[in-house]
Amino acid sequence: MNSNLKKFFFLEPYIYVEETHKGLFFYNTLTGSFIENNNSFIIEFFNKFNKNIKSIILEFDDEHMEKEVKPFLDILRDNFMGDFVSSSSNPIQVSPFLKIEQMFDVNEEVANYIDNILELTININSYKYTDTPYTDAYKQFVYSFYYKQNVFLPFKYIKKVIDECKKGSIHSINIVGGNIFDYPELPSLVEYLNSLEQCKYYYFNIYDEISTSFLKLFKSNSEIILMLPVSCYDEYCSENINRFLNCGLPTTVNFIVEDYTHFDIMSNILSKHNIKSHKTLPFYNKKNYIFFKEYVFLNKNDIFQQVFSYKDIFRNKTINTHYFGKLLIRSDGKIFANPNQANVGTVNESIVSVVKEALNCDKSWRLLRQNVSPCSNCLYKCFCPPISNYEQVLEKNNLCAINT
Ligand code: SF4
Repeated sequence: MNSNLKKFFFLEPYIYVEETHKGLFFYNTLTGSFIENNNSFIIEFFNKFNKNIKSIILEFDDEHMEKEVKPFLDILRDNFMGDFVSSSSNPIQVSPFLKIEQMFDVNEEVANYIDNILELTININSYKYTDTPYTDAYKQFVYSFYYKQNVFLPFKYIKKVIDECKKGSIHSINIVGGNIFDYPELPSLVEYLNSLEQCKYYYFNIYDEISTSFLKLFKSNSEIILMLPVSCYDEYCSENINRFLNCGLPTTVNFIVEDYTHFDIMSNILSKHNIKSHKTLPFYNKKNYIFFKEYVFLNKNDIFQQVFSYKDIFRNKTINTHYFGKLLIRSDGKIFANPNQANVGTVNESIVSVVKEALNCDKSWRLLRQNVSPCSNCLYKCFCPPISNYEQVLEKNNLCAINT
């Protein structure tokens, strides 16, 4: 046997390694299997050879063979995450790594900013502020905007914004209002929207008075989204559901639920009206934390239901996919990249400057778990769903049963 041979352990290039002071997390990007270890001796071993363990060849000596390291390396090998090799020189193993090139450079020549916009939500008008629990619901999901008076966004601004955005990759436009049918320039707006190839989603509240003559105007790639707070369901809602379902346009009912009893009511409504397409939207009303904890908070199985590729992991390290590419325009003309943070511009500004602001700010499109406490110390931070409006409204980044 050649005594000059050195012993190495290498990780397969499809293994992603996360490291925090709490431990090590080895993730197989082909199968979704993973192994964790929080043994301090093993953490030290991986740290000793390379501070950031992105070099996936590790040399070890007899001392390591005898201690806890060797059995753990055997576990990694038995799970097809790596193997041993003997060599007189240092072998080479290459692993994917994240390289960000000018992605957030504010130099206009090097990026097509408009291409970053994927979805617009436009509050064309608003409800007059009243004492309903849903006045701030737009901070949790797409919903009507309530304002001190009925304000409407002039059609010329809506057209200006969409005309700028449609040069890029935008695929859908949400039209929301304090009853869209009350919008004074509705015929011009709908005629313009009909001329666009993007999907249009018209949001109505279950209490909105329906105008069937206006509904007939909605054409080409148009869908109705009916917002239904389950707590408000009554005979009028029941009749209105039928009116919307019979309008001849694809309709999705978004049920707003606030506690477990709402699921039974929702199930009755679904069967009574033979609703084909629906979504469930939990609503935090400041009194239902326990419901949120049981229904919305994640556990480990929720997070690892899917297999994450390197691309998925690197995406989570770079952008917040919940917010990225989305802009909300309120009927007062303010534009938001995150409805729970300050606005990133107004309809008077160029959309390029709005996108630059959204890209430069780390509280919306780039709001990452790796940058906020306590997620930054969590081994699952690159796998966990991005921070959403719920975290912002509950003022808690870790809506999970893992790091509470
Ligand atoms: S602590 Fe943060 S990153 Fe970790 S599981 Fe909980 S929410 Fe996800």
